[in-house]
Amino acid sequence: MLMKKWSKAGAMLSAVLATTLAVADPATVLPDMAGVAPEPPGGWKTKAMAIGVPAPKDVGRFCSFVKNTLKPSGVEAIVLLVRYNYKFASHPECAGGNAISLADAKAIKRACDEAGVRLIPKMNLLGHQSGAVVKEGLLKGHPELDESFGKEKIKHNYCRSICPSHPDAMRIVTDLAGEMAEAFGADTLHIGCDEVFEIGLCPRCRNTPTAKLFADWVNGIARHLKARGVTTMIWGDRLLDAKASGYGVWEASDNGTSAALGMLDKDIIICDWHYENSPAYPSVEVFADAGRKIFLCPWRYAENAQKFLAYAVAHDKGQYLGLLFTTWYSCEDLMDVLEGKGVLRHKPDSEQAKTLLALRRNFRYLFPQSKQCCKR
Ligand SMILES: [Zn+2]
Repeated sequence: MLMKKWSKAGAMLSAVLATTLAVADPATVLPDMAGVAPEPPGGWKTKAMAIGVPAPKDVGRFCSFVKNTLKPSGVEAIVLLVRYNYKFASHPECAGGNAISLADAKAIKRACDEAGVRLIPKMNLLGHQSGAVVKEGLLKGHPELDESFGKEKIKHNYCRSICPSHPDAMRIVTDLAGEMAEAFGADTLHIGCDEVFEIGLCPRCRNTPTAKLFADWVNGIARHLKARGVTTMIWGDRLLDAKASGYGVWEASDNGTSAALGMLDKDIIICDWHYENSPAYPSVEVFADAGRKIFLCPWRYAENAQKFLAYAVAHDKGQYLGLLFTTWYSCEDLMDVLEGKGVLRHKPDSEQAKTLLALRRNFRYLFPQSKQCCKR
């Protein structure tokens, strides 16, 4: 579970270490980032935050957190990382060990509605199926859907993927996606689809281009959701060519999926995530030239967010739907640190504590209203 929560952030740790060292030591409470975060003319249409789903015991606290901390800080939408932590009625065999109930989902939705915060649940419906060893989720309930079924070794020893060509895969996944959207009363569902390394490998898939596998799969889920009035969001990394863009193989693709960009339904919203301190962020032009609507998604360091957003604003072609601050931490840790309780569950000099303090600092930068309403 820890691996899963940490997956994207943890995998990038070595890649961003150089960046980490370039900024002041986050072990101490850094002064606030100077200045105002870059915005397009007229501001962001939506300012959103991605956060882990609370454990069942923390649902009540989370509802208060939405009303008393996130809303007053200027958070207008939440991407809630539910994944398989929901007690699916359609496929109970896919529910995680600490899953919330339908009543919990409704309570969270009610709190968001009362606060005027839009709620977008998130799942992982292609890559990010457990780690190298399957412990939970869809592949625990349905191991036959594993693209690398029977293989112990997978690329980067990272995460498994769903086989998009398995005859049962689309049916089961759209059952789950439809149920998730309905449970949370959502008009938009984020279906993940980032960091897909296991694709085009199995006997059913290996003669089909990976871009077609990816596009047909995402379009199939999006069509199902659209028929129910739900818009689909995905991460953007698989739609970028690692070589052409200069991004690494985590934030862009080196297995051919990038050609899917031109095949995807235009209604699908793309979340363009970049966490590093880079000289340029060419994905913003790639997505603008492809006529795509995107969210810009920074992570922990305010300095890196500033560079990414400044570059994006300078290359604005009207493609931005909003800003989505990603956190990649447990809900409980984030509630502690953003409510001013500090880093309670980690040693003060640990990497986790440093990251949580950096996240709080970036939250104060991206959501400056938080300085008025929330304890330091
Ligand atoms: Zn396959």
